[in-house]
Amino acid sequence: MEEDKQRRLRALPAVHEVLARLEAEAEFGPFLTNKRSLPRIKHCVRQLLQKARENVYSNTSDWGEDVEAELWPWLIDELYQALANPETNLRRVINATGVVLHTNCGRALLAPEIARFVAAQAEHYSNLELNIETGERGSRYTLVEQLLCELSGAEAAMVVNNNAAAVLLMMNTFALGKEVVVSRGELVEVGGSFRIPEVLKAGGAKLVEVGSTNKTWYRDYEDAISTETALLLKVHTSNYRLEGFTHAVAGAELVELGEKRGIPVMEDLGSGSFFDGISLGFPPEPTVQQTVKAGLDLVTFSGDKLLGGPQAGIIVGKRCFIDRLKTNQLTRALRIDKLTLAALEGTLRMYLNGEGGEIPVWRMLSYSSQELKAKAEELKTVLEPSKTISVEIREDVSQVGGGAWPTVNLPTWVCSVRPKQGSVNELEKFLRLGPAAILTRIQKDWILFDVRTLLDGDIEDIAQRINDWK
Ligand SMILES: *Cc1c(COP(=O)(O)O)cnc(C)c1O
Repeated sequence: MEEDKQRRLRALPAVHEVLARLEAEAEFGPFLTNKRSLPRIKHCVRQLLQKARENVYSNTSDWGEDVEAELWPWLIDELYQALANPETNLRRVINATGVVLHTNCGRALLAPEIARFVAAQAEHYSNLELNIETGERGSRYTLVEQLLCELSGAEAAMVVNNNAAAVLLMMNTFALGKEVVVSRGELVEVGGSFRIPEVLKAGGAKLVEVGSTNKTWYRDYEDAISTETALLLKVHTSNYRLEGFTHAVAGAELVELGEKRGIPVMEDLGSGSFFDGISLGFPPEPTVQQTVKAGLDLVTFSGDKLLGGPQAGIIVGKRCFIDRLKTNQLTRALRIDKLTLAALEGTLRMYLNGEGGEIPVWRMLSYSSQELKAKAEELKTVLEPSKTISVEIREDVSQVGGGAWPTVNLPTWVCSVRPKQGSVNELEKFLRLGPAAILTRIQKDWILFDVRTLLDGDIEDIAQRINDWK
């Protein structure tokens, strides 16, 4: 047996022998020369030989030495084609989890018209850093600064790569080697093991924790202020809620203290929203406008959470502080790219035009029960003909995600599917590994498709995949 394997392995040709064979093939002469890359062909030959060796080892077939020489070109061609048309690494996912701001799936979606605006900017030159009026160099930040000021009521604004970068820049600019006072109840972990205290340290600031996990008072901040204090920082704990025996100091109170002691007061608002959610029946969250109005010197928030735009860190506040941020050399390392700026400008303009409710995140958060039920029924109707599953619709709850409104359960409708053969886990995996990865929720013996986060066309794709199940 072993001898046989050895013999078959030895019989496999070397790479240059295969190439020589290919060249000798009259039919495949052009195959090598005709606009194909030789290194890539060699790569395919190596892959094929590797497969042949594996087949010998595993004894799965006699494939390898026995494959007729004339088949090799075809097999190599097949591999070549597959390489030339690779499935991309970044792919579409159908989000049937109902989690609107799904951090693993890219958080907020852009409205289609904004996505087209971004694509157009990618294909053309633009005035990214050009003042068209004067013909001189301009600043990329001016493209969105005015819009952010109008929306937030702040004097000045700037944008960086993400909110973590905004906090880092803030620390590095105002608190390098100095102390920053933060409540113990606000030292949050934001996910992906990203923690506020670590960012402060990375920015060169010394963290001074005050109060206890559940209660922090005005006098705690007051007592912590020393000659080394550079900043009072408030962190909006949007991703969890302390309930019960708690106390926190409001931004406005901190502003008063800061003014009295001559210390700037800043807030990391986390999600940051221009809408408070009250009209949707959510517990009110402080909006960007309210936070600015409370008098904080600088306020930072994310672009791709409740704002519903691209990944970005937005900083709004008093002009003298924003000006200092702009001159920090780190700004260059944290700067926002032109496609992101395009997406952000488009998103901000929707708010200014009174179309904020049309931004996908807000559309998904504000669907009515009837709309969701109708969509779940539509999905049920297209899945029903499949003999391999049982399907029904029912009420359930979806999550906002992205660390926003963690305690809110959004009433929704789901289409639940149970495989007649195989387990739910197998079906879940089968859906996830499809041409577009379909992400679902598992609940006991059922797979749930929460229709809240489905987009146009998703229902057909789900139906097609379910059709291929067993
Ligand atoms: C989400 C969040 C961040 C991080 O924002 P990114 O834009 O993801 O960098 C920072 N602080 C708070 C309070 C957050 O909720």
